[in-house]
Amino acid sequence: MTLAPPVAACHETPDTTALMHVADRPDAVFTRGRGSWLFDSAGRSWLDLVQGWAVNTLGHAPQEIADALAVQSRRLLQPGPGLHNDRAAALAQRLADLSGLARAFFTSSGAEANEGAIKLARKFGQVHRGGAHEIITFEGAFHGRTLATMSASGKPGFERLFEPKVPGFPKARLNDLASVQALIGPRTVAVMLEPIQGEAGVIEATPGFLQALRALCDAQGLLLILDEVQTGIGRTGTLFAFEHAGVRPDILTLGKGLGGGVPIGALLAREAVCCFAPGDQGGTYSGNPLMCAVALAVLDAVTAPGFLAGVTARGAQLRTGLDTLAHRLGAPPPEGRGLMLALSLPSPDGATRAATAGLARASASRPGLLVNAVRPHRLRFVPALNVSADELNLALSLLDRVV
Ligand SMILES: *Cc1c(COP(=O)(O)O)cnc(C)c1O
Repeated sequence: MTLAPPVAACHETPDTTALMHVADRPDAVFTRGRGSWLFDSAGRSWLDLVQGWAVNTLGHAPQEIADALAVQSRRLLQPGPGLHNDRAAALAQRLADLSGLARAFFTSSGAEANEGAIKLARKFGQVHRGGAHEIITFEGAFHGRTLATMSASGKPGFERLFEPKVPGFPKARLNDLASVQALIGPRTVAVMLEPIQGEAGVIEATPGFLQALRALCDAQGLLLILDEVQTGIGRTGTLFAFEHAGVRPDILTLGKGLGGGVPIGALLAREAVCCFAPGDQGGTYSGNPLMCAVALAVLDAVTAPGFLAGVTARGAQLRTGLDTLAHRLGAPPPEGRGLMLALSLPSPDGATRAATAGLARASASRPGLLVNAVRPHRLRFVPALNVSADELNLALSLLDRVV
């Protein structure tokens, strides 16, 4: 495979002023991607270790997804959420077989999947727990940008936004079981967390903590909800991150990597927890066969023999490279699992400056590097799960130059 970028065809920079300003974005306008490479309208190229914030499981514009979209778009787009379709049924069964959780509800995003998980837990509390409705969540957590999922999040800066929040989400501290126990009361119905906090900067809930939470939830009759929107579908080297701890949640949410770049999320639950009655939950695009066909293609690729072993091997390669860099910089070792890693830099704004330099480095004759400054001092790495060893070596050498 050649690393040389092909030249893009379009030479006009599109005008972006009609877009609402919701993020400080660089000036480049991206028009094309292929695997681990992203190209802008001026034909510049970047080696991409962000991948749409961990959504492009198989990289940019993979053949598998192009094929799934082409075939399904000629068969059936969406008969409507009031009718069954074959792709949604097949995807639900596939996810049930893979996760051990009996039933699925499909959404168009991770936030909606988490919103559904919150609603399912509250319904469970109403039906089985005398109206218990509080869900213990965690400082630093990120569960999405709907009002309820922002309320469930513990992201600094969210507190003051869009008040008043949805009540019922007391916050515990990650990896501190006593802080969870202290919040449990008669109104508590569930505990909800990410196995690895992504937006907080790749902060892992230790396997021991997850096991203790599982035991605590069992003892108290609480539901354990895992938000695997970012960690799920192979990102950490196993299909689901909960496999590392050997615990199974009662409710699991997926998003990002499940669609490999197209919008689909999923809410999965144990049979005994599935208490929605008709009319409780829905969505116009829920289970649309176009996105379900893509998710099936992504799952085919990720569960193919050797794929997850490749994620683990590439993760080890990236970790070793980051470890060497950390040593040289006098920085702490990288954290995370598989191809979800983070590195803290010694300078308080070192990550922001490295990300900016990687972006600015691209010219007509040399590639740039896309890395995410998840915090001003902390870089997050979430490359395509099929990134090659050569691409990672190039990324590490580019990173060396920009930090
Ligand atoms: C990205 C993310 C979400 C939100 O997903 P959207 O598709 O952006 O709504 C929720 N939880 C976690 C852990 C995430 O990383």
